[in-house]
Parts: sequence; structure tokens; C-alpha cells
Amino acid sequence: MTGRQHYDIAVVGAGIVGLSVSALLNDLGYRTALIDPLTRPPPLPDHFDLRTYAITPASMRLFEKLGVNAAMEHSRIAEFCGMQVWDADSDGAVQFSAVELGRERLGWIVEHSNLMIALHHSLVHRPNVTRIAGSVNAIDQTENDVGLVLNNDQQFRAALVVACDGANSPLRRLLKLDAVARDYVQNAVVCNVQVELEHAKIARQRFLANGPVAFLPLPQAHECAVVWSTTREQAVQALNASDEDFLQALGLAFDHRLGAIRGTSDRIIVPLQTLHTNHYTVGRVALLGDAAHVVHPLAGQGLNLGLMDAAALAEVLGPREELNLRFPRRSFRQYERMRRGENTAMLKITDQLNRLFRDEHDLTRRLRGTGMQFVDRVRPLKKWLMLRAMGDVGDVPAIAALPSQFA
Ligand SMILES: Cc1cc2nc3c(=O)[nH]c(=O)nc-3n(C[C@H](O)[C@H](O)[C@H](O)COP(=O)(O)OP(=O)(O)OC[C@H]3O[C@@H](n4cnc5c(N)ncnc54)[C@H](O)[C@@H]3O)c2cc1C
Repeated sequence: MTGRQHYDIAVVGAGIVGLSVSALLNDLGYRTALIDPLTRPPPLPDHFDLRTYAITPASMRLFEKLGVNAAMEHSRIAEFCGMQVWDADSDGAVQFSAVELGRERLGWIVEHSNLMIALHHSLVHRPNVTRIAGSVNAIDQTENDVGLVLNNDQQFRAALVVACDGANSPLRRLLKLDAVARDYVQNAVVCNVQVELEHAKIARQRFLANGPVAFLPLPQAHECAVVWSTTREQAVQALNASDEDFLQALGLAFDHRLGAIRGTSDRIIVPLQTLHTNHYTVGRVALLGDAAHVVHPLAGQGLNLGLMDAAALAEVLGPREELNLRFPRRSFRQYERMRRGENTAMLKITDQLNRLFRDEHDLTRRLRGTGMQFVDRVRPLKKWLMLRAMGDVGDVPAIAALPSQFA
């Protein structure tokens, strides 16, 4: 394969992780090609987007440094200041509050489209990033660089490739990188609803035997984003049910914690899985975001982990130097060291929580109840858990680390 154009780095996939790492690499001076079939962001819908993310303070600090926070539509961002988690089958419950940490909030709920538009906007003024429309169909690595072939027959070469091409990562497949994956045999039912009682900026999650149901506060006091993880059968029923039947089932699942549910948007269902690649780098290619790891959405961490991958990779590469591009092994090793432990911990926590709450044995139920009450009472432990979920402790890349005006 002979390539005509040559870039320092080719970023494959312009989801939120790919766009973010491209902005970071631009700022370090790398000439970067950003490849994705889609080169425009989705439009902001009239009503709230169905795809929303709980964004941690660490991720928001990264967006702030990249100028992405300033470019977002702030009237469409909701903050959450507390979190309530409880078990449907025991008396276990934990309440988290930003006040306990002396903070104003624990995080934000942000729409996919709002973030994508802001990221696209922030790249317009970044001259080192070239957008290329197409999807990568083939890859070959030599000792000195990597060749890519797109579905439209465009070919080019880059010293390094950064794969941000999502959970089904074609690059991971093309490179024959093994990954440990498990289908949860669960789907998430996703929609936005209007509720009778004010959500009071609190994120709520009830754990049921079929999976957790989360109500996340939206900017309007009576509107919540719902992520209901449940069996495939129940999810398909929920998708096909009349609005009335759906709202009744959802209200029951959520124990009517916010009173009657008065209306719903369209709903979608998403299959849930967990995945972890055995290697984050191979030769001159590094994997980031969902291409490297997929976690259960119950902790709202998947994207946040991917953003920290982006920040970590940029940190270990450092300002553009020929040497970094010619000999990436050391930086790539550092990247894997920084991120594998953090990502493994979150994969294990979410996986174990999902299993634990689905276990209906009497003893497990009682232990669950006692365990949750213990966490609720032991303040230092609770504080640590909050800081961990906020991305404020652990191996946090410098650009996303405290202190910050957002804390
Ligand atoms: C129901 C649900 C709720 C969630 N809630 C949260 C939450 O609250 N907080 C949170 O942090 N995370 C959450 N997540 C996880 C989050 O959605 C993902 O972690 C995140 O979207 C991954 O981003 P990414 O950029 O790595 O991949 P993607 O968003 O999948 O982007 C991949 C990109 O690669 C492109 N691509 C694919 N193949 C090719 C190719 N061959 N060539 C070029 N480009 C290609 C695609 O077009 C796409 O643009 C949730 C997930 C689910 C399922």
C-alpha cells in the first residue's frame, strides 16, 4: 500500500473521545487527520436529546481547558448535587451529597448533541486537525509508520494511529486484538420523562433484580432522563407498549419516587455488554474509549473513562517531537500503565454491582442491605467513593486534575 499524504497522527473515529483527543493533539503541535464517516455534528433537537451523559468534574475540567465548555449551550446542561441509590429487595440505601464534600455539585448531565456541536466548533480554530470523511477498511503497519485505506479508496499514512472507533472497533478487529467481552443479556431503555415532583437536582437509581433504573435530573425541574437496564424481553415490551402502559411499568420499577410519571419522549433500547481489550497498544496504534473498554452504564462512567484515556495519551506523548513519533513504545507503555488500572477498577466495580443486585438469594439480599447501610454511615468511605466517581482521586491526568473553578 502506498500512501500519498502523511500525517503525524491519524485519529480514527470522531465520537466525543476522538474529537477530544484530536483537540489535545492539535494543541501539542501534532499534524492530525481525524477520520469518520460523519464530519458534521448532530443538530440540537427541539426537545432534550435521548443520549445524555453524566459528566464528572474531571471531564468538565478537560472540556474547560479545551474551550469546549464555553462553546456548549449552558441552558441545556443540568447539574446534579446529590445522588440516591437504593435496593428494591432490601432496606439498603445510600445518599450522596455534594455538601458533604463542601462542593456545589457532583457532576453534570449533558446532551450528546450539545457536546458534539461544541467539540466540532472547538476544532474549527485548530489548524493542525484535518477532517477526513470515510471509514477505515484496512490498516498496515511498518516499522516506521502506519497505512490506512478508507472505504472511498483514499489512502494515507501516519506515524501513529489512535483508534477511537467505538465498542465495535473495526480497527481492533483488523489488528486482531483480543478482548474479554461479555453480553449482559440486558438492554437499556432510554427516554426522557416528565415527573410530578421536582427532582431537586438529585440523580436517583433503584436497583431491581432485572437491573437498575436511573432517573437523572434535566434542566427543567420536572424532567428526567431515564436509563432503565432490564432483561431483553422486558425492554422490548417497554419499547412496544403504549405510552400509558410503559409509564405504568416504569413508575412501578422506580417505586414512584418522584410521584406520577406524566409523559414520555420516544424511547430507544440499547444492548448492554462489558468489554476490555487485552492490549491498549499494538505497534504504532493506541486504543482509546469504548474501542478499549465498555462498562455497564449504571455508574455513568464509560465516556468519562474514555476522556481520561484521551488526556493520558496526550500527556505521555507531550509536545510534538520527532523522537516521540519515531519511537512511541515508551509513551505507549506509559499510557497503558496509566489507564489499565483505572479502567479495570471501574469495569470490576460496575460488573460486580450489576451481578450483586441481580442475585436474589436471601443471604445476598441481607448482606446487600447491611453493606449499603454501612457505606451510608461511614463518612470517610462515602466521601472517597464520591471523589472517585467524580474523577478527583486516582491516577488523574494533569489536565483534568484538581484544583479547578468547577470544584
Ligand atoms: C444507555 C447508556 C448510557 C450511558 N451513560 C453514560 C453516562 O452517563 N456517562 C458516561 O460517561 N458514559 C455513559 N455511557 C457510555 C458512553 O455512551 C460511551 O462510553 C461513549 O459514547 C464512547 O465514546 P467513544 O467516542 O469512545 O465511541 P463512540 O461514541 O461509539 O464513537 C465512535 C466513532 O467512531 C466512528 N467509527 C466507527 N468505525 C469507524 C471506522 N471504521 N472508521 C472511521 N470511523 C469509525 C463512529 O462513526 C463514531 O463516530 C452510556 C452508555 C449507554 C449504552
